[in-house]
Amino acid sequence: MVDLRTRAFKTGLETLYYTGAHRVMAALWQCSGAIFNLHHIAPSADGDQENRFNPNGILAITGTFLDEVIRYLVDEKFDLVSLGEAVARIKQGDTSSRFAAFSIDDGYKDNFDHAWPVFKKYDCPFTVFVTTDIIDGKACLWWLILEQAIRENDRIEIILENRLVGFDTSSIDAKKHCWDHIYWSLRGGNEIELRHTVAQLAQRYHIDTNALCRKLAMTWDDVRKLNQDDLVTIGAHTISHPSLKELSRLDVCYEMAESRDRITKEIDEKPAFFCYPYGDETTAGQREFSLAKEVGFEAAVTTRKGMIYPEHRDHLYALPRVSLNGSYQQIKYIDLYMSGAPFVLYNKFNKVNAA
Ligand SMILES: [Zn+2]
Repeated sequence: MVDLRTRAFKTGLETLYYTGAHRVMAALWQCSGAIFNLHHIAPSADGDQENRFNPNGILAITGTFLDEVIRYLVDEKFDLVSLGEAVARIKQGDTSSRFAAFSIDDGYKDNFDHAWPVFKKYDCPFTVFVTTDIIDGKACLWWLILEQAIRENDRIEIILENRLVGFDTSSIDAKKHCWDHIYWSLRGGNEIELRHTVAQLAQRYHIDTNALCRKLAMTWDDVRKLNQDDLVTIGAHTISHPSLKELSRLDVCYEMAESRDRITKEIDEKPAFFCYPYGDETTAGQREFSLAKEVGFEAAVTTRKGMIYPEHRDHLYALPRVSLNGSYQQIKYIDLYMSGAPFVLYNKFNKVNAA
């Protein structure tokens, strides 16, 4: 199902690209810039994605592609700026030149090993949004636990909506089908049940969840080393990476303030920016935007898709981002994104999507 959606979306993007419609739209919809969103940076391309079971592969791009993207932005005369500079320009209404700011979510070791050298090569600032439980090596990376359970077994049994459900996972197609069913069922459900269900799944299929997290995460020493580089900003991304909409107001405040305070204690610098976990319309909305402001952050980023326009001056806690997705690692897609055209269509000709 995901493959079909990806294919349909790609066809739409290519129609825009080859007709040149995106250029016309870019001229009509002048943006101030873009904030990019990344997760994992792989050292090199990871083989044939189509014929492998690798559903979280969309969260990884290669260092080579990141290098190409930055070079493209430089050639296209985008200013490479920190998130702080981007927010300052939005506040001042400065549209004299277009900017590109980079942000990487969660706090994975590959950011340190494979992204940092590429950003350094171009003197390109970037922000790392840290989930403190990930750095502590004890986060429930449930999307990776689910992937591992399905990949390593020919049959999966899992409790969904209080019922034990069995899935055939003996072929790549069966694994993909099972993933689509369970992933979206968990994403659409209750946060506490999700954690409970995945903990049971991990136990049943002998997955050491802390070892998985520790293997992928940066340490606090890594975060401190990164923070010593003037190019790097460290931002807050909660304690446990929950869907905030599912939590009480008090718990949302705790996740925001406590993660900020914990990072402050570890790196001796207070994070000014916040990033909502998952960050789409179903997981962060008006209440979360207001709370991020109340808790004292200067601005906050979502994963709502879009470019930055002068109108975002009044929506600093609902800033959209442009995701660099593993399924779209070609410069023609970046050329399209930076025209803003796909997002103009996606947002039904609204510059701001903050409702
Ligand atoms: Zn995240």
